[in-house]
Amino acid sequence: MKTIKDLDIAGKTIFIRCDFNVPKDEDGNITDDRRIRGALQTIRYCIDRECKVILASHYERPEAGKYEEKYSLATVATRLHTLLKIASDITLAKDVVGVDAKSKASALKAGEVLVLENLRYEAGETQNDAFFAKELASMVDVYINDAFGACHRSHASIDAMARLFDAEHRAAGFLLSKEVNFFEKTLQNPMRPFVAVIGGSKVSGKLEALRNLIEKVDKVIIGGGMAFTFLKAQGYEIGNSLVEDNLLDEARTVMIKARKKGVKFYLPIDIVAAPEFSEHCISKYLPSQEIPKDWMGLDIGPASSRLFREVLDDAQTIIWNGPMGVYEWDKYAKGSLKMSHDIAATHATTIVGGGDTADVAQKAGDVDEMTFVSTGGGASLNLIEGKALPGIEALKS
Ligand code: AMP
Repeated sequence: MKTIKDLDIAGKTIFIRCDFNVPKDEDGNITDDRRIRGALQTIRYCIDRECKVILASHYERPEAGKYEEKYSLATVATRLHTLLKIASDITLAKDVVGVDAKSKASALKAGEVLVLENLRYEAGETQNDAFFAKELASMVDVYINDAFGACHRSHASIDAMARLFDAEHRAAGFLLSKEVNFFEKTLQNPMRPFVAVIGGSKVSGKLEALRNLIEKVDKVIIGGGMAFTFLKAQGYEIGNSLVEDNLLDEARTVMIKARKKGVKFYLPIDIVAAPEFSEHCISKYLPSQEIPKDWMGLDIGPASSRLFREVLDDAQTIIWNGPMGVYEWDKYAKGSLKMSHDIAATHATTIVGGGDTADVAQKAGDVDEMTFVSTGGGASLNLIEGKALPGIEALKS
């Protein structure tokens, strides 16, 4: 896969597919701009080479064809301008491939930046539509993909569009190549002991990743809702905790495989249990063996946190994907925040999967202490699963 440094881009019109799908609060304020900051290096590289820069991204899931303001990239364009610290304005097109976008694109001067409106305002984006991809491509000379967080989707700006350019006119941006290199290097050649910390809601979403990791790691720590399927598979009473009964055999197989391969497999030994899925009810610390029939586990307990810290102590590489509990509620966030602190405090190379896990590290104030925090939740999981990402395949095709 070529990177932007391998191309001759000076003075050309460059399309950069970014991932500006940033979280916002109820008032529409951006709460975490890591994805925008992640794109700056590639954008600056182009500006410094007198390029005309066209940026495109999706934002959430608007209904195609309907231009609702709440899905606009206007606030992203403003934040981008602040972060880029450039004198010239950043122009926002009113559409994606319409009259406004095209006229603004053709009026661009060297070093200027144009942001297209939300790609998903156009139905062709999610349909990986060839005609829409051609319309996008018609505005530029060079295609750069820097949207790691969207690379697991076969969408027009990720897949079909990349295929319209030859190898001299398309490449990965700095962020994308850094993400891919980090995961590939770590998974192929980790310093040992290599520990995987896996949490989140469901085993089903991470089963492939777990199967792949068992082949590579020395220890696995399981937390979050998915731990209960493993606890039940071991014969524990788990009350009303989250469980996937159809995966009990699969969970047993994973644990047997781990044992055969000498991979240490750790489950929570205590939990925070509550009688209902609520932030505002009583809760207790209980040993994992003592969950009452009508209660549920919503976080790992303090004994588990201590155990997991010891497991992490000698790690040289840690890959973490998934919170340890319902971290969105303060009451059940302690296990996840503690895990973040403990991972950050090790001397290991630490890789935090995107999405919720990055959110936990951010809330815990540990982002700067981690070696690498991915900007893509689904995409990073696919890399751990050993799957090819459509966006990367398209760049290599
Ligand atoms: P995932 O998308 O699979 O990484 O799961 C993240 C979600 O798992 C978060 O929204 C958490 O609130 C949720 N979660 C973590 N632990 C539990 C639990 N014990 N019970 C229910 N949901 C959980």
